[in-house]
Amino acid sequence: MNTSTIYLDNNATTRVLPPVLEAMLPWFSEYYGNASSSHQFGQRAKEAIIAARASVAKFLNASPAEIIFTSGATESNHMAILGALAANPTRRRIITSTVEHSSTLRLLDYLASTGVEIIQITVKSNGELDINALAEALNEDTALVTLMHANNETGLIFPIAKVATMAHNKGALFHTDAAQTAGKISLDVRQLGCNLLSFSGHKLHAPKGVGVLYVRKGLTLKPLLYGHQERSRRGGTENQTGIVGLGVACQLAQQYLAEQPKSIAMLRNTLEQGITASLPFAYVNGAGPRVPNTSSLCFVGLNGEELLHKLGQSGIMASLGSACTAGGTDPSHVLLAMGLSREDALSSIRFSLSKETTEDEVNMVIKTVVHLATAMHTDIAA
Ligand code: PMP
Repeated sequence: MNTSTIYLDNNATTRVLPPVLEAMLPWFSEYYGNASSSHQFGQRAKEAIIAARASVAKFLNASPAEIIFTSGATESNHMAILGALAANPTRRRIITSTVEHSSTLRLLDYLASTGVEIIQITVKSNGELDINALAEALNEDTALVTLMHANNETGLIFPIAKVATMAHNKGALFHTDAAQTAGKISLDVRQLGCNLLSFSGHKLHAPKGVGVLYVRKGLTLKPLLYGHQERSRRGGTENQTGIVGLGVACQLAQQYLAEQPKSIAMLRNTLEQGITASLPFAYVNGAGPRVPNTSSLCFVGLNGEELLHKLGQSGIMASLGSACTAGGTDPSHVLLAMGLSREDALSSIRFSLSKETTEDEVNMVIKTVVHLATAMHTDIAA
């Protein structure tokens, strides 16, 4: 990485790792065949996809036939939700949470406009899901429960296995959006008990534009895209290079997680402690089990966008964790759902680390944040 920049926006996307890139390169201009062609190049491509599928299946403790390659988590979420609804035509309710990613919430908004009943379960002030409300919402009309595994803004983890069992007890399918857990904590679809699971390659050091939908054996989903590829479950010429990269990225992530790394969590905790110890007006958003790399910090009274801009001028890249619109910045729906005021939500910044983040980088970020935030705070008080 360039020494003048520090990248702490890994929940938005990650760097393609050198071994991933190296594995991908020959598929651009050496073995560029279409996996559906019967000639040498085509067959080579087909074999590489088979190998990548096996690697992804191992990563999830699934079987290769349960893996569908897509363009990313957005597409996977769409296929899971629309497919589950079509698979359960007599059931018209979908249960989700108020803090899901927009790729889920916007689709559900659309489905609500077509008459599907959408129930959004709220979270408590620490970000924990209201399980009692979920139990009450589950009924015989529920086609699907769709719940993110970890939140992209706070990193908080939902009790997926428990909710999957609750959904199944009512005959509903269960889908989880694991875009923010893949590569960060071990994923095991059998332990999670999900029927469907989505993730994106670019969140775990594979390229953008490739992702996965896991579909448990025995469940047949209506495709979003028709065509013969992916055993007629997802049409369109395969993203050969992306799929190869994803296969290698999953292998690397699995090796890394098997070593039970503590370093990312330690660095994240150092970051939080270093900032909150020096800034009495800063606190961590949410409490409970979290992915090890994510920290959402509220700097009460400060303009988060301004702080982020100043950090950017110092070469530090983080994120507001909220959507920028033409008219300015909207407060994060996740933080609002946790009960933060509009002002506090707009004063919050997300820092997301990766296995490439170093101690020196974290120390530099602490120093810079403390310096900039103290100056901004003093200006307000003056
Ligand atoms: N779900 C979650 C939780 C995410 O964080 C993201 C990416 N920000 C997505 C879905 C969508 O992923 P993609 O843009 O790669 O389709």
